[in-house]
Amino acid sequence: MAIEDVMILENSSVMYDEILAHRLGLIPITTDQSYNLPEECTCKSELGCEKCRASLSLEVEASDPVEVVYTSNLKPENPEVKPVSDKVPIVKLAQGQRIKLEAYARLGRGRDHAKWQPASACTYSYDPKAKTFNFFVESTGTLPPEKLVLDAARLISAKTLDSRKDSEEFLKVKKTVAVAQPEEIVDASNLILGRMASYVAKKALDGKSMVVINAERAVISGTKERVVARAKLKLKTRTLGNLEKSPTHPRKPDGYVRRVIRGMLPWKTRRQRRFP
Ligand SMILES: [Zn+2]
Repeated sequence: MAIEDVMILENSSVMYDEILAHRLGLIPITTDQSYNLPEECTCKSELGCEKCRASLSLEVEASDPVEVVYTSNLKPENPEVKPVSDKVPIVKLAQGQRIKLEAYARLGRGRDHAKWQPASACTYSYDPKAKTFNFFVESTGTLPPEKLVLDAARLISAKTLDSRKDSEEFLKVKKTVAVAQPEEIVDASNLILGRMASYVAKKALDGKSMVVINAERAVISGTKERVVARAKLKLKTRTLGNLEKSPTHPRKPDGYVRRVIRGMLPWKTRRQRRFP
């Protein structure tokens, strides 16, 4: 959940009401899933009801010369809906300055506003031996990571099964599934880059769709100094003429490995179109 509406009753701090409200909106707040999404709530009210919003109040007057207002000063109405951390600073007050406000948190979706995104980082890797996908999900604390992964899996399966009615949606999902099913997956971990690339290039020339994973773990032979010096020299290559035609050198591991494989494919003939 995240704060969506703020009613400011008093604010004599140096921070404008709008900035204060924006800061409040970005505070991660624990989620109680028994609440309704306001657009799906039976109350149909713009202001919301107790089933679709939770209020938090804040009232602070600085008695010290400088006082920092932290999330611990936010008093939740429902103890299940409270800031994830007590230590997020909201605003600094000088002596005598006062803040009094009421904030309303609600459920929402990450695609509408980033403040509702429950994960701050997520990646995955594939282990071809065990034939398993390993997901790494870092939660902002609004929901536990296990819950995020399970809910996401449930949503995907619901979309793939029910969306036949909605053909556009179905095509989209099917396409991602098709892309995720290559004929061969190569795990580049601890493989010599050039040898791995030539293997992939050869198979690709035979018309197989190949996917390379864990590109960042491929090994480039040679001492670290030599490899780094060579890569840096390459990055310096520029053109004096048209910058749009200047050679580009990928920096990210996936781009780097892709470029090595591309270098082993016929690129200046019509066949290149088969290897976008
Ligand atoms: Zn409601």
